[in-house]
Amino acid sequence: MADQPIARVLTESMQALAPVLWFFMESTMAKREGDPTICDLVYGNPHDMALPELVDTLQRWAVPQTKDWFAYKTNEQPARETAAATQSALVGTSFDPEDIFLTPGAFGALSVALRTVVDPGDEVLYLSPPWFFYESMIMVAAGRPVKVVLQPPTFELDVEAIKAAITPKTRAIIVNSPNNPSGRIYPASDLAALASVLSEASERNGRTIYMLSDESYRRILFDGNAFESPAKHYPSSLVIYTYGKTLLAPGQRIGYIALHPEIEHRDELRGGVFLSQVLGGFQFPNSVLQYAVPELEDLSVDIPQLQRRRDRLHDALSEMGYDINSPASTFYMLARSPLEDDVAFAEMLAEHDVFVLPGRIFELPGWFRISVTANDDMVERSLPGFEKALKQARG
Ligand code: PMP
Repeated sequence: MADQPIARVLTESMQALAPVLWFFMESTMAKREGDPTICDLVYGNPHDMALPELVDTLQRWAVPQTKDWFAYKTNEQPARETAAATQSALVGTSFDPEDIFLTPGAFGALSVALRTVVDPGDEVLYLSPPWFFYESMIMVAAGRPVKVVLQPPTFELDVEAIKAAITPKTRAIIVNSPNNPSGRIYPASDLAALASVLSEASERNGRTIYMLSDESYRRILFDGNAFESPAKHYPSSLVIYTYGKTLLAPGQRIGYIALHPEIEHRDELRGGVFLSQVLGGFQFPNSVLQYAVPELEDLSVDIPQLQRRRDRLHDALSEMGYDINSPASTFYMLARSPLEDDVAFAEMLAEHDVFVLPGRIFELPGWFRISVTANDDMVERSLPGFEKALKQARG
């Protein structure tokens, strides 16, 4: 038998991730990332110094107060209480601190949650265009990803399409509101319709369909928009949260899973999530981050500044002739590529030192995504490049 050095599931995930891996490792962006002369509008990464309050909080909690300060830590009580209070306010139902599980960001939360509920071969629905790791993360958890396509240019939650994709093998659905990449916040009416479809299908299947509610961007809200938690409408929800977006510090890995207080099989799930954290490779944030949570909860990156950058880019690019949306939330703006081949257009922008994420990387050919976490200087410097590349594309 031919030697197969890495696990088959990773080989298969690699195929699903091929466009992402190409972009990370081989594109012009991969070669020029970190170059101070480029305008980096690609990822939700910081391009200014970190929040001083964040630095101060981490420094203080890094100083040991007891001999077991750096002993093994699992789900620390003050962090759990803080997250439970936030969850209670958002969902309007009292969350028990015992239902909060601290994880290394939303990445960790998703991987732990999937490993907790998915059996080999179970189907997990995700909505496309997605955050580009969902499909492969479902695969690594031994699930079968089932894609439900949302229609441009609004990318509304298509409850009928979700209903049509459900089978007796459906185990879970990942819902991401506010949405990366569309910037949409799903309204209460759509979430209520989705909840009734999921409840009916769970009843019919004799097996709960869990909702993994990825709420990573729920505090990045523009224009006074309010966030409606999908979990408010569907008790069989595992809420996924990360502090990485709100603090704009994704390298400090902290987030959590919150089990809805009325989730089906709550006691078994509590044990399952904990076991999944331990056996999945001790998926807990470092102790210092856990101690800091009660203070981190109240910190945030400057949202009005992000909104100003969104407006600056939206207005300038629209005026040039780009077809670009103005997101209600998140770090991201979607624009139509003036060339059908979005990768070719991204390379054209790259010739002018402007870097964006081509739509093909997130299942949306013909579009590209801009991140407003670039600093103001990059945004201003990018505008002539956007203008030249558009002219070039139009021949
Ligand atoms: N979910 C979504 C929708 C995201 O956009 C991201 C990060 N880009 C994550 C999860 C992962 O977040 P973190 O890196 O903070 O774990």
